[in-house]
Amino acid sequence: MVKAIVGANWGDEGKGKITDMMAQEADIVVRFQGGANAGHTIVNSYGKFALHTLPSGVFYQHITSVIGNGVALDIPKLMQEIQSIVERDVPAPKILVSDRAQIVMPYHILFDQYEEERLGGKSFGSTKSGIAPFYSDKYAKIGFQVSELFDEETLREKVERVCALKNVLLEHLYHKPQIVPEELLETLHGYREMIAPYVCDVSAFLDQALKEGKTVLLEGQLGTLKDPDHGIYPMVTSSSTLAAYGAIGAGIPPYEIRQIVTVCKAYSSAVGAGAFVSELSGEEAEELRRRGGDGGEYGATTGRPRRVGWFDCVASKYGCRLQGTTDVAFTVLDVLGYLEEIPVCVGYEIDGEVTTDFPVTTRLERAKPVFEKLPGWNCQIRGIRKYEELPHNCRNYIEFIEEKLGYPITMISNGPSREDIIYRESSLKKQV
Ligand code: GDP
Repeated sequence: MVKAIVGANWGDEGKGKITDMMAQEADIVVRFQGGANAGHTIVNSYGKFALHTLPSGVFYQHITSVIGNGVALDIPKLMQEIQSIVERDVPAPKILVSDRAQIVMPYHILFDQYEEERLGGKSFGSTKSGIAPFYSDKYAKIGFQVSELFDEETLREKVERVCALKNVLLEHLYHKPQIVPEELLETLHGYREMIAPYVCDVSAFLDQALKEGKTVLLEGQLGTLKDPDHGIYPMVTSSSTLAAYGAIGAGIPPYEIRQIVTVCKAYSSAVGAGAFVSELSGEEAEELRRRGGDGGEYGATTGRPRRVGWFDCVASKYGCRLQGTTDVAFTVLDVLGYLEEIPVCVGYEIDGEVTTDFPVTTRLERAKPVFEKLPGWNCQIRGIRKYEELPHNCRNYIEFIEEKLGYPITMISNGPSREDIIYRESSLKKQV
């Protein structure tokens, strides 16, 4: 049985925590898209970790952690990450890397930086991890699959060919130093040695595992609004963030995905540029940013301050729909305990009309938030384990949002650790 854990919004919803928690009762955790450009923060008995490439199940000995073919694989970063957790006394994780995953090349990272420099004020707010140049090359069919590292002749020929192409851009567009094919080849030999122990036919492995009745978690990165098709294009990421893509990025049949847990944070946050209708500014934003997440809303990969805002029902309803949500995990609710009143964005006003349907980007730029204020609960809710024990206004907030979303909130996260979770029965659960 396969379960996907994905984001409804701009990312940083707390998917890492939910994956880590659900991994207690799973066998395999697969990353199926994205790269080291976003991070998951996990708090457990070994400490606090920011993971970028490793799936969030690496802390369990019973879990096999898989990097699927859909991932942008940065080999040195993966090695550093394995090293950094083993150094902190986490038992060496079982890791498999798809022989069809493609490799983030050193020049992808450089091109990412050069392009952001070239665009200046019009940049996309890239994390400069090479993700956009990587996926461009993948679809331009000049990417390198892991398996190609093991075929010396083809590798050498391809390195020459790709360098010739890249060097034209480096010289004439970016005015930067050229790539020396021999040096690149040597770097790739180093990558080959590093990755060799982990390489496998992931889709065959998962096929066998499913036949044996194993439970597989697909761990998404970022969220619906960063999807290149359904998100706020062009301020999106370069690989699909949707659960449906999990089938492709892991190499499994789509019908195997039985549960889709869409993670929604109790307020909004976003990193990078792009329309953000319910965004806050000034003092109110500062306070939410400082109190948010676990130690403030600052990017796990970049340390950049995240943009914050009130919960956005329009964006989240859309986010849940595109994911094909069976369950909503509503996270970081404990953070809102300081508020007397909590505004919720219930509609967008565009050209004088109010809508609850998430619009295309050109219209989104003109949207203004319509807020409804709900009473706060004004107390700490961490430590509570039963839904009925949450304050009345807190349940009211959850139920109001569930109604606006139209998808069942079955998990509520009220703290960063695995244990901070409240399961809830939802009347909507039967209808989906
Ligand atoms: P992801 O990319 O979706 O996995 O999200 P991140 O890990 O980047 O961001 C979530 C942040 O919120 C992390 O710092 C988590 O430790 C923290 N977090 C997750 N769930 C909760 C929660 O219920 N309450 C609080 N206070 N923090 C949480």
